[in-house]
Amino acid sequence: MISIIIPSYNEEGNVRHIAEVVSGIMNENYIPYELIFVNDGSSDRTWEILEQMAYEDDRIVAVNFSRNFGKESAIFAGLEQARGDAVVLMDCDLQHPPETIVEMYNIWKNNDVDVVEGRKADRGKENKAYRGFSLLFYKLINKASGLDMNAASDFKLLDRKAVDALLSMPERLTFFRAMSSWVGFKTEKVYFEVADREVGESKWTTKGLIKFAINNITSFTSAPMQIVTVFGVITFIISLILGITTLIQKIMGVSDAGFPTVIILQLLTSSIIMFSLGIIGFYISKIYEEIKNRPRYLIRDVIRNRNKGDR
Ligand code: UDP
Ligand code: MG
Repeated sequence: MISIIIPSYNEEGNVRHIAEVVSGIMNENYIPYELIFVNDGSSDRTWEILEQMAYEDDRIVAVNFSRNFGKESAIFAGLEQARGDAVVLMDCDLQHPPETIVEMYNIWKNNDVDVVEGRKADRGKENKAYRGFSLLFYKLINKASGLDMNAASDFKLLDRKAVDALLSMPERLTFFRAMSSWVGFKTEKVYFEVADREVGESKWTTKGLIKFAINNITSFTSAPMQIVTVFGVITFIISLILGITTLIQKIMGVSDAGFPTVIILQLLTSSIIMFSLGIIGFYISKIYEEIKNRPRYLIRDVIRNRNKGDR
């Protein structure tokens, strides 16, 4: 059996439709499945609809968060609930074509593969700023972490082995896309076209995206901290040269007021110090987040096999 995990945040217009479409495709291809919807603290009627769906259909599991914890947490809650031999993660808005699940399933079934990764054949209809931004973000991530993340998506099939490996990772600030590459295992790729969003709007705000990018870059690399060291070395060399020339000028008696040098040095060093402190502060705040060791999410309800009674 495969478990299909669908994080849902304010998706009242999508949940019923996606369940029908995915169930249809699974039944057509004789693939045993369960659908796990994780309601990430939606403020619309998503949970009521999911509850209803879980009562009507035994293969639907509905999980309800106590508040909005973000897609990452919803993914991990889904992984924890999944009972399948493999798990598929997909978005609620049908931007991840459900037919691709069949393709992933066949690759997993017929080959000795643990992870089947969905990669974006093209990035769909995203606006220019978003595309530029995500390109820059993935360039940084690729360079820093050595994982090829461009065109990567959260649309993936994971074997039980990979799921258990992910669940054994204790960190609080998760980045599923990178973590599922980090665990390794035998990986195969499938390409899919990003469809248009079915109903509603993308949940990302510019501020949210920037926060997401910074968080994930710092989760996967300490390169920014090393940049600080490099800056330090460069400023040291510059000040050494400046210091020696000033000294020589002084000895030769041609030293002028020296005011510009002082100002430039002052600005240079103080800006680098502030910048460095900022980076260090950021990592410390992340250490603080991790060390609090809070749960990644809090579950309010889980509905599973309700109409069959206890099993
Ligand atoms: N999502 C979520 N919690 C959030 C934001 C989004 O669970 O706080 C879910 C959302 O319901 C959808 C998926 O994450 O299933 C992708 O969201 P969206 O389509 O808004 O992102 P995009 O496709 O623009 O990257
Ligand atoms: Mg989407």
